[in-house]
Amino acid sequence: MKAVKYCGVKHLEYVDIDKPKAGPGEVLVKVKYCGICGTDVHAYKVPGIFDWELILGHESVGCVEAVGEGVTCVKVGDRVAVGPPGDCGNCYSCNTGHPNTCAHAFPETLGIGPGTQGAYAEYVLSKHPDNELFPIPDAMAWEQAVLFDVIGVGFHAVRRSEMKVGDNVVVSGCGSIGLSVIQSAKLAGAANLIAFDVMESRRALALKAGADYALDPASDEDLTLAGKILSHAGGAQVAFEAAGNPSSVKQCIDLTMANGQVLLVGNDGRPYEMITAALGPMEYDLKFSFTYTKEEIHTLFELISLGKLKTDVYSLEMAPLSEAISKVEQLADGALDVARVLLVP
Ligand SMILES: [Zn+2]
Ligand SMILES: [Zn+2]
Repeated sequence: MKAVKYCGVKHLEYVDIDKPKAGPGEVLVKVKYCGICGTDVHAYKVPGIFDWELILGHESVGCVEAVGEGVTCVKVGDRVAVGPPGDCGNCYSCNTGHPNTCAHAFPETLGIGPGTQGAYAEYVLSKHPDNELFPIPDAMAWEQAVLFDVIGVGFHAVRRSEMKVGDNVVVSGCGSIGLSVIQSAKLAGAANLIAFDVMESRRALALKAGADYALDPASDEDLTLAGKILSHAGGAQVAFEAAGNPSSVKQCIDLTMANGQVLLVGNDGRPYEMITAALGPMEYDLKFSFTYTKEEIHTLFELISLGKLKTDVYSLEMAPLSEAISKVEQLADGALDVARVLLVP
């Protein structure tokens, strides 16, 4: 079967590999769509994130093609989502309710762990189907279900925050993660939600996702307006940084009230400079947020089914698997601005 292998920085290959077989306890899934995640694009550009000789693809949907002996969680023909963050179920993080920070998460995740075979391929083999496969509700379109990773990251960030109903919220960065934060924060009861992005097209999507204001961080006029909206408490109770760059982090801190929270959701690898002598007296809480949990996927699917989380704010582009390499290159060069390219094997 055809697949796309990560062979090193800026080096992907479209290869023929053996179609996997489902052994005892395993499930083979015929891939319908696999999303090209920002993590894949980041690892394509930056050394040391993924090991070589890995078939990429950790957010896919498909039909169960074959089940190995002893599998009871799914049957042939079931529609499933494949490939959320792995976890060992047995480390301190897993045992204390934080499987997304499992010490063994990367090696356990299909399409990320060393030597794993992800879903940039015609078929993907799940060795831990109880952990890796999630039934897709009947009424949910494939194109909605495949967004579990896109929506999950922002959804988890809001759940990880201590945001309360009625809080004023800033979201900096209206790419796909930012849009997911906006939707989730509005659902959680944000009063004034102010989204920032330098791109007008993204600001339009932010409004569609439920932001009350979509402002340009480079505009003095817009920053004055944000200051007025947030003037009661001297800033937002919670700011979510979803652009992943140092100036966005600084802006989030600047717009947060004393004792407020800044959630760091985006990350492009550049260091942040912080003058702690200026920040300390404000007693800001800085929190990181990383991926999402399996339970959150179930919740997400419910919320999408109920129409409480939208999927039509994410721009999609379908591409045949044979074009995966050029699509990853275009995303890495910033030549393509879509929430997800969906590979179609
Ligand atoms: Zn991802
Ligand atoms: Zn663990």
